[in-house]
Amino acid sequence: MKYICPHCGEKTFTPLQKALAGSYRSFGKPCPKCGKRCCNGMGSIYFDSIISIIAFVFIMIIYFKSDASQKTQSSILIAAIIGISFAVSFLFRMFFGKLVEPIRRMQ
Ligand SMILES: [Zn+2]
Repeated sequence: MKYICPHCGEKTFTPLQKALAGSYRSFGKPCPKCGKRCCNGMGSIYFDSIISIIAFVFIMIIYFKSDASQKTQSSILIAAIIGISFAVSFLFRMFFGKLVEPIRRMQ
């Protein structure tokens, strides 16, 4: 299963390469065939913002619900939530959305 490059129309990106191509605001990754840069489209930006809002809400709940005796536990939980949200948005970029031309261009 491979993703289509928006420049040459060939299926050149593996899900992992697509995930590593970054978001619309990044410089993207060059296509193995035509060498032009590709990144993930707006879908991944919307998804990332939803995920970060959810993660933020969970972190706030943990932060305000925990007392001093649960400090270690709650910081582990917060770290886990941050890790999970990164993993989830990475997986989204691997399997959903399509590749587009980055808005930023290398000079
Ligand atoms: Zn290409």
